[in-house]
Amino acid sequence: MKKISTAVQTTVAYQKCLNLDCAETFPVDETLTACPSCGSLLDVQYDWDRLPVPGSLKEFESRWANRNQPLDFSGVWRFRQLLPFAPDDKIVTIGEGQTILQQAHAVGKYVGMGAGNLHLQYEGLNPSGSFKDNGMTAAISHANMVGATSAACASTGNTSASLAIYASSSQMFKVFVFVGSGKIAYGKLSQALDYGSKTLQLLGDFDDAMARVKEVAGPAKIYLCNSINPFRLEGQKTIMYRVLEALRWEVPDWIVVPGGNLGNSSAFGKAFLELKQLGLIDRIPRLAIINAAGSNTLYRLFQEQGLRWNNGRPDQELIERFYTQMDADGRRAATLATAIQINRPVNLIKALRALDACDGVVRQVTDQEILDAKAQIGAGGFGCEPASAASVAGARLLRAEGVIAPSDRVVCILTGHQLKDPTVTVAYHTPQSESSRKLLAENEITTTAYANEPIVVENDYDKILKAVRGL
Ligand SMILES: *Cc1c(COP(=O)(O)O)cnc(C)c1O
Ligand SMILES: [Zn+2]
Repeated sequence: MKKISTAVQTTVAYQKCLNLDCAETFPVDETLTACPSCGSLLDVQYDWDRLPVPGSLKEFESRWANRNQPLDFSGVWRFRQLLPFAPDDKIVTIGEGQTILQQAHAVGKYVGMGAGNLHLQYEGLNPSGSFKDNGMTAAISHANMVGATSAACASTGNTSASLAIYASSSQMFKVFVFVGSGKIAYGKLSQALDYGSKTLQLLGDFDDAMARVKEVAGPAKIYLCNSINPFRLEGQKTIMYRVLEALRWEVPDWIVVPGGNLGNSSAFGKAFLELKQLGLIDRIPRLAIINAAGSNTLYRLFQEQGLRWNNGRPDQELIERFYTQMDADGRRAATLATAIQINRPVNLIKALRALDACDGVVRQVTDQEILDAKAQIGAGGFGCEPASAASVAGARLLRAEGVIAPSDRVVCILTGHQLKDPTVTVAYHTPQSESSRKLLAENEITTTAYANEPIVVENDYDKILKAVRGL
């Protein structure tokens, strides 16, 4: 793709091809979706030696005093010294990143942790209700830097909701969102429509939508906002900064995150690598990436077939063979956790780097385990959407395996808000109804052990009183 404009030249930041045998670099204000020479993913890199890096992470706390300054109010841009690619006057912020790390006792008990050792990071508290806003503010700021006026993404739902809210709030971009047909959760579709984005509902799934948006973005001069966009991952690093901040800058033992396109896990790994390199932390936490069993490309490749980062030279042939076989078998991802229903995770290679840096593990959990965990998260806190609950289900599995110890300090990332997918939530809690039975059976949900079923009662004073007393 060609350069849209060269409005700003920030020389301390640049883009670099992830492929070590190529390793070409490109200016930060160039609009690329892949390395033009070899097609690999791009990374944003910095000449840290030429940048004013804080002496300690504690220095970021003083920024709270500046909360009437939009960049310091933002939970992303408060940390802009650690993602210094955009000049302040090009940054587009809508107050993202006001999220909470909660010590979750009841959920911790469910997972099997010692008292006080499980923490939940509620990224559903972002303006569009998912962690995607952390990345979208960075991508949109970069779009603004390069002079783009329209933007697009393919999405299982939350990326489109996020891009759409940045378009409606900033009134700076015309936005196109590409969604697949069928499995998009209603909360998410309703956002894209409500925020006024042009919504293209493709007759295909997410991977089809992703392939198409990549094809048309270049010719139509539309800025692409999927997590293939390396600037988005820069914004998502700040989720880890906020986790550390909430833990008084102490590094936890484990970060547990659901894996879809693997943007988040990649960003987390990069965040910790950089903090370590800058001497701002003394150790890196372990990373657990949790796939849905019905959408388990990373699990198969990493855990079963031994694919590794291999010092920047992962076995590309193994990956190609895997995808060829997947297509030959007609295998398509299928899970109720639609936000992580992905066949070809675009950030696979970066996630391998993160797993390498963080001594990581990958696990898969069934939709049954996901929905049970989700009900526990709802009953024990703010709740989340199905994909997010994979993190807690995964922590529980790792705890049962003894990989996580009860005394470890564990942070599960809850990626999306409880209201995103009411259909699945209501089905779980009303298993007797016709429509619930159908949805649960189709997805092999055989028990609803934590269902909180509504109590049907006649419109009669005595009967209501009796019912309430009996509860
Ligand atoms: C996008 C999304 C994910 C998957 O994140 P990746 O960075 O693509 O791995 C998980 N949960 C929710 C709620 C999401 O919106
Ligand atoms: Zn390259």
